[in-house]
Amino acid sequence: MSDQTAPLPAAPALDGIAEDLRRPVGQGLTRPRRYREQQLDALIRMLQQNLSLWESALAQDLGKSEVEAHLSEIAFTIGEAKLARRQLWRWMLPTPAPLPLALQPALGKVVPEPFGATLVIAPWNYPLQLALGPVVGALAAGNAVLLKPSEVAPATSALLARLVPAYLDPLTVRVIEGGVPETTALLEQRWDLIFYTGNSLVARIIAEAAAKHLTPTVLELGGKSPVYVHRSADIPATARRIAWGKWLNAGQTCVAPDYIRVDREVADELVEELRHAIAEQLGDARSSPDYSRIINGKHMDRLQGLLTGGRVVVGGDADDDERYFAPTILTDVDEDAAVMQEEIFGPILPVLPVDGVDAFIDSMQARDKPLALYVFARDREVVRRVERETSSGAVGVNVVVAQYGAKALPFGGVGESGMGRYHGRFSFETFSHRKAVLSKGTAIDTLRLIYPPFTQLRASLTKRIMG
Ligand code: NAD
Repeated sequence: MSDQTAPLPAAPALDGIAEDLRRPVGQGLTRPRRYREQQLDALIRMLQQNLSLWESALAQDLGKSEVEAHLSEIAFTIGEAKLARRQLWRWMLPTPAPLPLALQPALGKVVPEPFGATLVIAPWNYPLQLALGPVVGALAAGNAVLLKPSEVAPATSALLARLVPAYLDPLTVRVIEGGVPETTALLEQRWDLIFYTGNSLVARIIAEAAAKHLTPTVLELGGKSPVYVHRSADIPATARRIAWGKWLNAGQTCVAPDYIRVDREVADELVEELRHAIAEQLGDARSSPDYSRIINGKHMDRLQGLLTGGRVVVGGDADDDERYFAPTILTDVDEDAAVMQEEIFGPILPVLPVDGVDAFIDSMQARDKPLALYVFARDREVVRRVERETSSGAVGVNVVVAQYGAKALPFGGVGESGMGRYHGRFSFETFSHRKAVLSKGTAIDTLRLIYPPFTQLRASLTKRIMG
């Protein structure tokens, strides 16, 4: 494992690339369902025929185990693409729209159409899935797409740059590798939709650049996703589920539980059960093949700095050479410390006692709306209150992270955690403009009623029909 980022190949010319991609969409190349299906089939083949290459790129970037690589990246993305492939005919159908009496006789329909040239900017933590997932939506909806993978996960980025052109139509799908300079150059061009996944500081740069061209943006961001554990919860089961979701990908997951607020009377028991769950799931995490590594030295240092915000009761050890950071639990946490102010995005879990559901709900009022919010309780009234009295991208009840895998649920944030949504049908919707079509024959001209001159009769008829 090395911290070195391989030098990128000379950047291909970026000038006019958005225009080049927009042209075939305008000319109708991507309009037929058959073309879109072929692209989705090609994307599925690209993943299935190169399994060991994808696995080793993910192992190189993040030390991902084979199971995790499939669960959260390869098989996950194949599943998204297959669903789109299967359902495309249905998603592409126009939706009939009921019309008011005043417009009859006529037909109304809502027709999904591609935006044109779309730009997908991906992050490093699930460098395959978060790059190709949006691409599936873009292609299903008939767009051209330029994918800019994260330079922070260089092995996966390089593989995407090598395999995408070998499988997908280069007229409508391109990959440009690179970091800030390349992305900045891309953002100067006019895109028809920008889909960005990453942190909320860069999201502001993206939104500003997009505003210059009035380009719509989807911003898939992160934040501090809390867990509330009520005293009625099944504590051992709660600990097992939280442990899985927190230490998956060594905590580098946008919907990972960031911190826990637990009813004071069960706080010690929860910490003990979490300790037990770590041992049960990962054993000695340092030697476990199932425990991922931290992406780079910069993030190792950042995480080390967060440890000062509380008392380390589990883990806390790290090895820079290996980019290993132990599953770590903090108690006696300072609310003002960095660990409670910024997204942790790593394997550190602060556990803070709280005095009941009211106090938890109050604590959420003062914070940004998170991407996910989790509640563990057997008391249904507590669950109902948390669901109704807080706002977040998603809520998990007695479960963490797994909502991400439900393709019929929209995935996206609200407020500081982002805007827009995708997965399954929502991806198609997000990458489609919904065009309104109203069509009338000319044989019967009921519209005449609203033409001037506005006689008394027309005025009273209009009031009656429209009102
Ligand atoms: P990152 O550093 O890989 O950045 C994301 C992308 O932004 C990269 O492609 C990068 O090249 C580009 N970028 C970086 N700086 C830029 C700049 N100045 N101008 C233009 N482009 C720039 O990833 P990250 O931001 O560290 O990702 C982690 C964050 O992403 C966390 O906040 C996490 O919660 C969030 N995240 C959200 C989701 C989601 O689906 N909602 C998924 C994963 C991660």
